[in-house]
Amino acid sequence: GLADRLQSTMQKIRGKGKVTEADVKAMMREVRLALLYADVNLKVVKDFIKRVSERAVGQEVMKSLTPGQQVIKVVKEELTELMGGEQSKIAVSPKSPTVIMMVGLQGAGKTTTTGKLANHLRKKQNRNPLLVAADIYRPAAIKQLQTLGKQINMPVFSLGDQVNPVEIAKKAIEQAKEEHHDYVLIDTAGRLHIDGELMDELKNIKEAVNPDEIFLVVDAMTGQDAVNVAKSFNEQLGVTGVVLTKLDGDTRGGAALSIRAVTEKPIKFVGLGEKLDQLEPFHPERMASRILGMGDVLTLIEKVQASVDEEKAKELEKKMRTMSFTLDDFLEQLSQVRNMGPLDELLKMIPGAGKMKGLNNIQIDEKQIRHVEAIIQSMTGEEKEKPEIINASRKRRIAKGSGRPIQEVNRLLKQFEEMKKMMKQMTNMQKKGKKRGALK
Ligand code: GDP
Ligand code: MG
Repeated sequence: GLADRLQSTMQKIRGKGKVTEADVKAMMREVRLALLYADVNLKVVKDFIKRVSERAVGQEVMKSLTPGQQVIKVVKEELTELMGGEQSKIAVSPKSPTVIMMVGLQGAGKTTTTGKLANHLRKKQNRNPLLVAADIYRPAAIKQLQTLGKQINMPVFSLGDQVNPVEIAKKAIEQAKEEHHDYVLIDTAGRLHIDGELMDELKNIKEAVNPDEIFLVVDAMTGQDAVNVAKSFNEQLGVTGVVLTKLDGDTRGGAALSIRAVTEKPIKFVGLGEKLDQLEPFHPERMASRILGMGDVLTLIEKVQASVDEEKAKELEKKMRTMSFTLDDFLEQLSQVRNMGPLDELLKMIPGAGKMKGLNNIQIDEKQIRHVEAIIQSMTGEEKEKPEIINASRKRRIAKGSGRPIQEVNRLLKQFEEMKKMMKQMTNMQKKGKKRGALK
């Protein structure tokens, strides 16, 4: 698959200190094959390779990234662009209600996604949607939506299975207006394959209700079929966005890349499980990371880069490696961490960091930072260098000097110990990674 192909190439280039033009060429060959294999439009692939090659070869070398990392960074940025760049929002009709039609093949996840979307709209956007059961063919389809509606405590509009779906949709909108629903989500029927009858029915509904969005729901696990389905639906019906379901399976995002490239329609949401809260807005950048299999490492590098002085960062890295990190450095770090944003957010970006012991104890907020500063500033130079000499009487003195309770002094020393341990784990991880020729 796409991810595997790319990843084996990435692995080769990751550990390199220097990347030659030949390396970039070899890498681009792989990327090109991978994209073509994933059914991405030939022109799109050509443009993509051209853009990446130009940028990868011509760019100035940044101090904090190895050239290999830099090529990966460019590939990632262009992959992000290929998937639409920015996150795409749901339309809001100037005249309430906003009408969204859910379409797709049978089993793609339309009904489930209708429930999830209603849940999302209410929880995240404070909306009041009406769900509409317009699949009158599949046995128990209406019941399925009603059950979902009950779970999230939202009304489901239904006229049974003897009324034409076009009528159902029209009546539902009338009712939505009367009851002041701001969104109407129409769950339509699917078939096992695209056929004229299905398309005709969907076109009729579309014509009758003039929807603000037509969301095509496709199953990411079907890979290239999903891409072909998306192409047909878009050509025959016209869709405004795609919901890619079942991304929680072992699919790694190839469909996400191709769908956007082939249909030029944005992926709006991804389904990550059967539960009603397992729907997430689609973030091209995160998906690019996922395809490349590198967590958010580059985002992390960039963030650190943006707020940490480069020379200082180098010095710090050396200290981390040699374990000569002192409380003074810790203090310095704290002020830089403040510029970067919440520490736990940063740590989440490190692949595997979530599993590291001790991380949960290092939660730092603004007020705490000031207290920590006060405590460290109450220490002597020697104490800051060698915190192990801080005995009970020294602790009392430091507590007094900083105006903080002695338990807090203890806690800080413990946190510092843990941070050092964590750094050791991280540097070990990096060393191992380098031996294997991998970053993570
Ligand atoms: P429809 O025929 O298009 O309406 O599809 P359904 O909504 O009935 O979904 C078909 C099956 O896919 C059901 O078993 C759902 O629970 C499951 N499903 C839907 N979305 C997801 C998802 O994002 N992840 C997983 N793992 N299963 C999903
Ligand atoms: Mg259904």
